[in-house]
Amino acid sequence: MSSDIEDPEEMSQIPEMSQMDTQAIKTDLQSLLLELESIKNGIKHSIESSVVASLDLEESGGQKKQSVDLEKINRGFADQEEYAEILKNSVATLLRGDLAEEKTMKTYIAKLKKAEQNYEKKKDSQKYGSKNWYKDYRTQLWEISHMEEPMPPLFEDDDNENDDIIISSSTVGFKCPLSTNYLENPMTSKLCNHSYSKAVVLEYLKKGRKQCPVTGCLHSITMGDLYENKILEGRIRRYLRIRREKELTQQRY
Ligand SMILES: [Zn+2]
Repeated sequence: MSSDIEDPEEMSQIPEMSQMDTQAIKTDLQSLLLELESIKNGIKHSIESSVVASLDLEESGGQKKQSVDLEKINRGFADQEEYAEILKNSVATLLRGDLAEEKTMKTYIAKLKKAEQNYEKKKDSQKYGSKNWYKDYRTQLWEISHMEEPMPPLFEDDDNENDDIIISSSTVGFKCPLSTNYLENPMTSKLCNHSYSKAVVLEYLKKGRKQCPVTGCLHSITMGDLYENKILEGRIRRYLRIRREKELTQQRY
């Protein structure tokens, strides 16, 4: 047997990380952040495709079983979106910490776990009702077969505390505040959620920042605050088509 047993004191010591080690970890974490950003974009694209599939199915009078499955998938995407966001925020916080300190990593893991648990504990209305794309998609789904009927609350767990997330089927948002016609190629403001026809708003914002043209809205907007709202575009197209079909049926009798 060997007589030179290593000093247990020494064995339990964790070697200090060198400046170079922490720098390498920082670089890895930074590329992880970029990776997470592209994962989030991937999820966003999947959501768009899945929402379109759900609406197409509803429009074609699809089977109940299939639409229930698609709804599960859509909620699954909403969860993934949230987890990617939680992870991204955690990694960003970790990057700001002192990576040479052992407790930095421990705190990171604890906080990440906590954030995930907090999300899991949330009610459906809190998980999904806070997502604009989800509310938009459910509203459209409702409108396909219940045009102009008020929409019931989206979630069974909805108590009246969450008044702001209960939405009703409404065509108020379908017209451009600038042209007063139905929106064409709608662009939506990320700041106030108001929408405008693309060509008209381009002209309106030609010289830069301006007040949102919706009466009573206090936000000022630039082109950079707007995004092309394909979901809203589909909604308006669908609304106008169904309205036209209704008019045609009425004329026939
Ligand atoms: Zn506005």
